[in-house]
Amino acid sequence: MVNPSTTASLSPKAPVCVFCASSLGTSPIYAAAAISLGRSLALSSTPLIYGGGSKGLMGLVASSALENGGQVHGIIPKAFLVATNGEKGEGASSQEEEIGKGKTVNLEGHKSKVTVVGGMHERKTLMSKLSTGGFITLPGGFGTFEEVMEMTTWSQLGIHATPKPIVVLSVGGFFAPLKEQCERAVKAGFIAEKNLSFLKFVDGPDDADWGALAMQALDEWVWDAEAGYRGLDWETS
Ligand code: AMP
Repeated sequence: MVNPSTTASLSPKAPVCVFCASSLGTSPIYAAAAISLGRSLALSSTPLIYGGGSKGLMGLVASSALENGGQVHGIIPKAFLVATNGEKGEGASSQEEEIGKGKTVNLEGHKSKVTVVGGMHERKTLMSKLSTGGFITLPGGFGTFEEVMEMTTWSQLGIHATPKPIVVLSVGGFFAPLKEQCERAVKAGFIAEKNLSFLKFVDGPDDADWGALAMQALDEWVWDAEAGYRGLDWETS
């Protein structure tokens, strides 16, 4: 499917965005994978871009990256801060002044950069712009599904300046149905087979070193240069 002569790979130190659950899930294998991923990003000097929350798998990836000396940049909509800190809470009001800028804060005793944005679309646009190294997905719910599918759609439409790797970590087989759904859509004529090259599904045993598998998948990711639409002018439209 992929022609190696028309492929591209990316710098391993470019920032990478992680999409994942804002909850922990029912099995400890998800938390272990999140901690493994945060560690591998830090140890490979790959800055983490993420949703800025401290809950669930999101919080574990970030705290693991920070504990291992990594750089972390959270992009969080103001509404989540208000929900966490209260409309008049000190955290919410001081963060409000920083909208769009990026501010270094303490997250669980470690220094982390946080940018507060106005809403979810602004957040995703900024996350995408900053994540020149691509995206990694851990298990999650609707929010995670939406994020990974939107970034895949942006690859397909040529909205990313160049397609970026989208690595999907199928911890405990979690994403097998999504992979199957994509293949089903190819068979049904709704997705061009070459466009499957945007997504890299990664399988492994439950106790795999998911961080190492993710970094390897980023390094090895190739895309079919014929995939997706090219030449649409998203800058001026
Ligand atoms: P889900 O997979 O449904 O748990 O959604 C994960 C996504 O939900 C994250 O990437 C965020 O976009 C968003 N999210 C949910 N709760 C929070 C929170 N407290 N702080 C930041 N982001 C959150």
